Amino acid sequence: MGKLIKGVSKNARFFICDTKDLVQEAMDIHSCSATGISILGRVLTAAGMMGKDLKSESDSLTIRINGDGPAGTIITTANMNGEVKGYMSNPQVDTEEHDTGQIQIGKAVGNGTMYVIKDMGLKDPFSGLVQLQTGEIGDDLAYYFYTSEQIPSVVALGVKVNQDYKISCAGGFIIQLLPGAENEFIDRLEEKLKAIRPVTELFEGGFDIYRIAKLLYEDMGSDVEGKLIEDYEILEESELSYKCDCSKERYLRGLITLGRKEIEQILEEDGGKMEVECHFCMKKYEFTKEDFDGIDF
Ligand code: ZN
Repeated sequence: MGKLIKGVSKNARFFICDTKDLVQEAMDIHSCSATGISILGRVLTAAGMMGKDLKSESDSLTIRINGDGPAGTIITTANMNGEVKGYMSNPQVDTEEHDTGQIQIGKAVGNGTMYVIKDMGLKDPFSGLVQLQTGEIGDDLAYYFYTSEQIPSVVALGVKVNQDYKISCAGGFIIQLLPGAENEFIDRLEEKLKAIRPVTELFEGGFDIYRIAKLLYEDMGSDVEGKLIEDYEILEESELSYKCDCSKERYLRGLITLGRKEIEQILEEDGGKMEVECHFCMKKYEFTKEDFDGIDF
């Protein structure tokens, strides 16, 4: 489980989340390297926050990154209930500099594109496409928000992996300016963001998501220390979890699109059964001839 808060003030709104447990689960499911989970964990964290902005239970939000780096394609999907799942083509990617332990995320992702797809049950899902700017995910999403949705945003994402390959902390925040945001607020927010430490260091320093919200809105001036730049209100507190919605029924519906002839051929070649593995949760489903009996296709 991860925890998320969503809030608003006069000039901005924000999402802040702690996704340590969710990211650990993703790391276990996909057997990720430290580099792999640093990337997938960031995209899962971002999707979790963005999914909270959907309006209906059946809507979904997908972030798809097609980079030319060794990480390959990365896909994450989230819904408004905070259920997130993800996949990457090379979870064992390794761009860690072994002398410093620094993980080169941009190098692993490479150049390419980022799609954000919002499926809201309409005929054509909303889809925004941007070129990757740095491949560091947070910057790329901020660029996406600005160019595709015209919303000036700050996106901070972080995943820290321990020496023993366990997630030490993970999470992030998104701050978005509201229309007509005042220049004074923007200036002070920029100053604040320059001054605060990366989100993983905040978590390691004992900050929780509530304390991070306060930090973001705290005045910097020494004479007014602790005074808020402006008052904010927390609108929602909820949980984020790694959850896949796959089922045998769903895979069956997918398989029958291949056509009976193709299915029968595969079954014959594979000794009367076929196995399908879900890319998101690694669950395996087995199908035999009986599963297709009585289906008209
Ligand atoms: Zn699944």
